[in-house]
Amino acid sequence: MINLLYDTLTDLQKIRGYSQISQWEQHDKINEHLKQIKQQFLDRFKNKQWLYETDNLHLQSESEHLISEARQLFNIKPSEAVERKTFNLYSNLITDILKLMQLTADNSNLILDPELDTNYLIDVLAQQVPYLAESVGRVRGMGSGFLAKKEITADERERLHNFQAAILTRIESIRDAQDVIIKTSSNLKNSFHLLPDKLDQFIDPLVNKCLLLEDEADCPDISPEEFFRLATQVIDLLSSPYQTGIVLLTSKLKARQTQHLLQGGFIFFGTAVAIALMLYFNRAFFLYDQKLHGEMEKLSITDQLTGLYNRRHFHNVFPRELRNTLRHGGQLYLGLLDVDNFKLYNDKYGHPVGDQALKHIAMVMNGILQRAGDYCFRIGGEEFCFLFNETDDEKAKDFADRIRQEIESLGIVHEKNKPYGVVTISFGLIRIPENLNCNLEQVMTKVDEALYMAKEAGRNQYVYLD
Ligand code: GH3
Ligand code: MG
Ligand code: MG
Repeated sequence: MINLLYDTLTDLQKIRGYSQISQWEQHDKINEHLKQIKQQFLDRFKNKQWLYETDNLHLQSESEHLISEARQLFNIKPSEAVERKTFNLYSNLITDILKLMQLTADNSNLILDPELDTNYLIDVLAQQVPYLAESVGRVRGMGSGFLAKKEITADERERLHNFQAAILTRIESIRDAQDVIIKTSSNLKNSFHLLPDKLDQFIDPLVNKCLLLEDEADCPDISPEEFFRLATQVIDLLSSPYQTGIVLLTSKLKARQTQHLLQGGFIFFGTAVAIALMLYFNRAFFLYDQKLHGEMEKLSITDQLTGLYNRRHFHNVFPRELRNTLRHGGQLYLGLLDVDNFKLYNDKYGHPVGDQALKHIAMVMNGILQRAGDYCFRIGGEEFCFLFNETDDEKAKDFADRIRQEIESLGIVHEKNKPYGVVTISFGLIRIPENLNCNLEQVMTKVDEALYMAKEAGRNQYVYLD
């Protein structure tokens, strides 16, 4: 019916367009075509199926209104069209058709949600099948009673007719409901043969017998017992699809609900797994980043050749260590160390061998400066400095001089480092003044001075400057 209305609507659009053209010029061909579509439009409303459907959905009056509107509109001559504002009239008609389409959809229970359709069919079965059984039951009682009496009043005949009509309408509406379900819910298709084909074989004779009852002359054709048996068979046939239908649909609904719950569960589980993975990777990336960051930071403060801290880190550590010493008591000492005649060493043995010597010196420093608060740095090519805490100057001097002694003990041959013949170092040593505002530059100048004095004094020694 909706399809029919849709076709009607498109025809009406064409009619409106052609009517507008013919308002201005007399086109014979257009007018001929217009006439044909108008007729097609009106004919559609005389269609038997259409009449049955509109009647069934109580839309008869709406469709009649529609057709009378259309007739009036179609009778307007093109010459009168402008004065009669046909455009508005057509628009009203289109609105009316749309309204009828909406009403049809509403009245035909055309619910397209499969879940709702399942509920809908349960409703249909729960209400209509018992009614149907009841109608047949009444026919059964009445029919057999009449047959026994062999006479029927006009009033009784009327009631019999009503029951008969009710049976047919209800069977029809159950079939419609099944059609909707089958169309919208293909997975239920195979389960829905609720009204067995056999039903017609029983309903039809029953209805026919009822009709026969109208004519008293034909009454003897059927015995009351036979009529009773026929009607009982129909009730049996109706009650069994009713029972199985309800069970089937309820289980389908439950299965679907479980499926939704499961789907919900899967979605929940899936989301949880996704979040867990995200967190895991996030954490992994975080740790990786942290590690990377740590490594980069370490690289930025380390001297590549010796693995000692670099000059940059010395500038960070010095003020920090100064604060620590001031807070915890004790004395902070700074040593500045330089390899003796290293230029000559490089010249004689080559730069790579020089590098090896620098590494050995670094290892000695690292081995001695191992306590908490001990630090050694490579601050230039062959210049190193070291920081350490001691309780007094003598201990500090002894401690620092161990570095010089151990380097000499390495016995790395350095022929040109006369008179020692091995690689030696000189260093300057100072005690850092107990003053937070102590300036690194001034401290470095002083320790450099001490180193210079050690070099001047003949190398392979230290000078402590107070
Ligand atoms: P002095 O005893 O007065 O310190 O004499 P020196 O020859 O050591 O003089 P100075 O300290 O001025 O010379 C530094 C030399 O150290 C110059 C350069 O050849 C060498 N040098 C600096 N950096 C490196 C390095 O990374 N590797 C090597 N193999 N040699 C270096
Ligand atoms: Mg130097
Ligand atoms: Mg040197």
